Amino acid sequence: MKKLFIVSNRLPVTVEQQGDKVALRSSSGGLVSAITSYLEHSGRGGFADTVWLGVPGCTEKAWDAAVAQQNSTAYTYSPVFVHWKKYEMYYNGFSNSVLWPLFHYFPSYADYNSTYFDAYMEVNRQFADALTGQLSAGDVVWIHDYHLLPLAAMLRKQFPGITIGFFLHIPFPSFELFRVIPREWQKEILTGMLGADLIGFHTADYVAHFLSCAEHILDVTHDGQNISWENRQVRTDAFPISIDYNLFHTAYDLPDVAQKRAEFSQQCGNRKLIFSVDRLDYTKGISNRLKGYEQFLKDHPEYKGNVVFILVIVPSRDGIARYAERKRMIDEYIGSINSQLGTISWQPVIYQYAHLSFAELCGLYTACDVALITPIRDGMNLVSKEFAASRKDGRGVLVLSELAGAAAELSDALLINPNDIREIANQIYAGLTMEPEEQRLRMEKMQARIRQYDVVQWSADFFFRLYETKHSQQQVEVRMLESTTRVMLTDRYAAALKRIILLDYDGTLMPLQKFPSQAVPSDEIIYLLEEITKDPMNDVYIISGRDADTLHKWLGKLEIGLIAEHGARARKNKEEWVNFDGSDTVSTAHIEKIMQDYTQRTPRSFIEKKQFSLAWHYRNVDLKLGAIRARELYGHLVKQVSGLPLSVLNGNKVIEVKPDFVNKGKVVERLVSGGDYDFILCIGDDTTDEDMFRQLAGIEHAFTIKVGTEPSLAVYNVRSTEAVLSLLQDMALSSARIHQFN
Ligand code: UDP
Repeated sequence: MKKLFIVSNRLPVTVEQQGDKVALRSSSGGLVSAITSYLEHSGRGGFADTVWLGVPGCTEKAWDAAVAQQNSTAYTYSPVFVHWKKYEMYYNGFSNSVLWPLFHYFPSYADYNSTYFDAYMEVNRQFADALTGQLSAGDVVWIHDYHLLPLAAMLRKQFPGITIGFFLHIPFPSFELFRVIPREWQKEILTGMLGADLIGFHTADYVAHFLSCAEHILDVTHDGQNISWENRQVRTDAFPISIDYNLFHTAYDLPDVAQKRAEFSQQCGNRKLIFSVDRLDYTKGISNRLKGYEQFLKDHPEYKGNVVFILVIVPSRDGIARYAERKRMIDEYIGSINSQLGTISWQPVIYQYAHLSFAELCGLYTACDVALITPIRDGMNLVSKEFAASRKDGRGVLVLSELAGAAAELSDALLINPNDIREIANQIYAGLTMEPEEQRLRMEKMQARIRQYDVVQWSADFFFRLYETKHSQQQVEVRMLESTTRVMLTDRYAAALKRIILLDYDGTLMPLQKFPSQAVPSDEIIYLLEEITKDPMNDVYIISGRDADTLHKWLGKLEIGLIAEHGARARKNKEEWVNFDGSDTVSTAHIEKIMQDYTQRTPRSFIEKKQFSLAWHYRNVDLKLGAIRARELYGHLVKQVSGLPLSVLNGNKVIEVKPDFVNKGKVVERLVSGGDYDFILCIGDDTTDEDMFRQLAGIEHAFTIKVGTEPSLAVYNVRSTEAVLSLLQDMALSSARIHQFN
């Protein structure tokens, strides 16, 4: 039976020394409760076992001793022991001194040290090795976070069919930022992530950034959600992580929480209470928050002595110099506010650098008037969701940075730009003076969102999409012309008495080239076409959007039919070229002028001029500019051809204007109806080839094949032009065999 593997940098347990004994203590992070709840609610997800793999944070000896003393554990833990020096370079080095600052838009804080990168790759390989020893083909792996970006691809190499999900818990930066890191690193990161079947992010913006990076750096195409990568469709999606809503909502009534709340309220007396809690991190905008508070006190002196700001910072990564430096800055700044604005009887900021207990945290969440959360960049920010969930009393105001992922869901917070100090000050004032009814209304809306999409829903949603992705990959696999269907196809070919073979050229026989003139047919293509045309039972046609001169020059010597410009011109075997009736009545001079204008405005685009049609190519243009101009030109041309017998085609990196009474579907209709064929084979790769597939749909002896894994009207897919040539090779051999015996 299949197993579930959860993989994260650290195991969700720590080994604790208790006197001369050691014991395992479970951590209570959001991810653990998400997975645990999902398994509880889904009959263990159908898994025989759930294995959690990660670094245990202790020696092998201590781990073994702790496990030996433990009767049972929530999960099967699989520790990965990494040498501390290597771990330091992987964790404090590449993960937290390169990826963390860069992905949070602090590129100048990143330390592009190649030994960090090497250690990062090595530790990921160590994770991969640890996993491959335990994995079986039907298992499911869910990898978490930026420490393990290359891992999915490492696993995929060994287990091509395995189901892998990846979730990134921090932002994914825009291309302009991502490209700052060395090219090799960029590729390892992106291809590593693409080893997964489903890649999850917190927000739609992060999804878009990832797709844009993949498009620019790996030259892949996507449809806004799915990327074709190494013969698989990899799906990307947004899954905003959430919290255990009930845990925080019901905490309001817990006796120890109520007691803490009462203590804090008593301590504040009649003063208003502002609260914030964050890990120590330069991304959290703590200095900006303090500046905003200082500004508020200056703007509203009536609040001096009547408000208190409890600021809690949870120790984190203090082994990294930037963090220690940040702490010093904050300490000094708080000291200066308190000494300059405070009085003997009033301290404006109460500051604690410590971990809070759950009761203290919820006591503060529920006692405060305003929660002030101002990160400069934050993947999600759970504190804001926990605060909103915990306000069972419907009171309290959330002031939240619009640069936190949570802002996309919590639009009923008072949103601020953390760099706008005056705005922070104003929103603190707005929060402190907000009417209770408005507080309640805003809180209810935020709570409804968090309740609906809590952490259980989050993980269930992720698993659901992961299986859905796998299922649609499998459906594509079924359509793939693999060994058994291929044998059936060649058997039908061999048994047929009259066959027609209809082949597109670019992208079907020859891979797409930078410039159309470079796609000269290889010797192999010429040889194969010669071989299949030798068989007297075969009629072979190349049906292309290319001009007749090029087809004639490249393929004119062959005994095949050539169809140029989507059917505007044709040549049967070695006969003369003829025009489709009426083609020559259409003038495209005004279209050419428009295309020239776009060519001038779009570096590296060019026009391909054919006898009856014009094509504007933008495959070498900068991606974004190409997409913008193509959309613009398409719209422009559609208007221009209205009322004329012309149509505009939006192809693969090409916009083409052609006579509308010809298309490949009509060509196929004519060719097929002319003969009593008992075997029809039609292969193409582009949108214009779909007309051929549509025309042949439902004909029992017609075999339509799309080159590529994208959805198509064709019955089968093959992955590449090589697969097409190999199929033609099989047919040529089959013909040779038949005629040898006859
Ligand atoms: N938290 C904690 N210890 C504390 C105070 C808070 O573990 O002393 C928790 C808090 O409840 C929240 C998490 O730390 O669940 C912080 O998550 P967030 O997304 O806000 O920020 P991150 O630290 O992940 O950047």
